Amino acid sequence: MEFRDLKKQYMGLEEKINESIAGVLSSAQFISGQEVRELEESLEEYVGVKHCITCGNGTDAITLGLMAWDVGPGDAVFVPDFTFFSTGESPASLGASVVFVDVEHDSYNIDPDKLEEEIIRVENEGALTPKVVIAVDLFGLPADYKKLKAICDKHNLYLLEDGAQGFGGKIDERRACSFGDISTTSFFPAKPLGCYGDGGAVFTDNKEWADKIRSTAVHGKSGNNKYENVRLGMNSRLDTIQAAILKVKLQAFEEFELQSVNDIAIQYTEKLKKLDVVVPMVKEGYLSSWAQYTIKLPSVYARDDVQSKLKERDVPTMVYYAKPLHLQKAFAESRNYAGDCSVSEALCRCVLSLPMHPYMTYDMVEYVVDCLGNIIRKK
Ligand SMILES: *Cc1c(COP(=O)(O)O)cnc(C)c1O
Repeated sequence: MEFRDLKKQYMGLEEKINESIAGVLSSAQFISGQEVRELEESLEEYVGVKHCITCGNGTDAITLGLMAWDVGPGDAVFVPDFTFFSTGESPASLGASVVFVDVEHDSYNIDPDKLEEEIIRVENEGALTPKVVIAVDLFGLPADYKKLKAICDKHNLYLLEDGAQGFGGKIDERRACSFGDISTTSFFPAKPLGCYGDGGAVFTDNKEWADKIRSTAVHGKSGNNKYENVRLGMNSRLDTIQAAILKVKLQAFEEFELQSVNDIAIQYTEKLKKLDVVVPMVKEGYLSSWAQYTIKLPSVYARDDVQSKLKERDVPTMVYYAKPLHLQKAFAESRNYAGDCSVSEALCRCVLSLPMHPYMTYDMVEYVVDCLGNIIRKK
């Protein structure tokens, strides 16, 4: 069994993808160009945001967003403690101080109450300028943007949505990657919408920031003149071949893949009810894009032992994440800070992500749950 079956996806879309790639090869336009701009327009429309700027990967997307706000030394950037490394790496690499905030025990997303406590602490200490909150749509579930936006407005902070795992999710009728003042995503192959290499995108309604991001992504170019450089930037663009692949994949994502992962999630949740595990929650009015289907095992089970027993039965699983960000050696520098992150620490000991992708069958779900049921006890 595959954890995320990209081969099966390709088999289904093979003809269209090959044709689309062949079009790029015969045009010999390999970086940016019409194909990339068309993809950006489709993404703007799907997400419901005025400007989409594609770039090299999801990590650069976050960095580009932060650079639009001139984030740097002396600034505090608030980041959830339970997420992929990039969320903290991008602000830290710009010289900002990262404040790690604990997450909610049920949604696994940044805890708005604890966030506000940390903001007030930094404000009172007065050594740093609180500047940005980065919220992550972990495992596909949007963070609590209603509360987060209110906190950011109250404390005069920018909100950046790291939607690398959240593309396709919703709160009521609004799509993920539209909740931040600037939002970002990743097209890494295993993400909800993936290409066949690295890719990413930045989204915003603000034209001034959008123009700045377009410039920063191409060596700080001025307008359309690549050889007139008005600021220091980076080289972060989406390959045209990747755009051609994404064009086909976005259509499949819209037409059936997003629905399919939600059907699989319902099956999992229904069948797992009989077992002694905690299933993922989806808040009222929210839609997840199920980047991961992640369960919590009660502490009586050794998670790694359960994982290896599943592997013996040909059920691949992953541990996202085994270590909270604030315990990563790279963040051990004194300019970064973590308060009480006990929820995040506890999650790292008990989470387990099960196989999840749009091409799973209900039989496969049943097999995974049966195998798990033979390893741990029933309720
Ligand atoms: C994958 C991921 C990123 C980084 O995306 P890349 O395209 O791999 O650079 C950032 N944040 C989160 C939450 C991710 O899962």
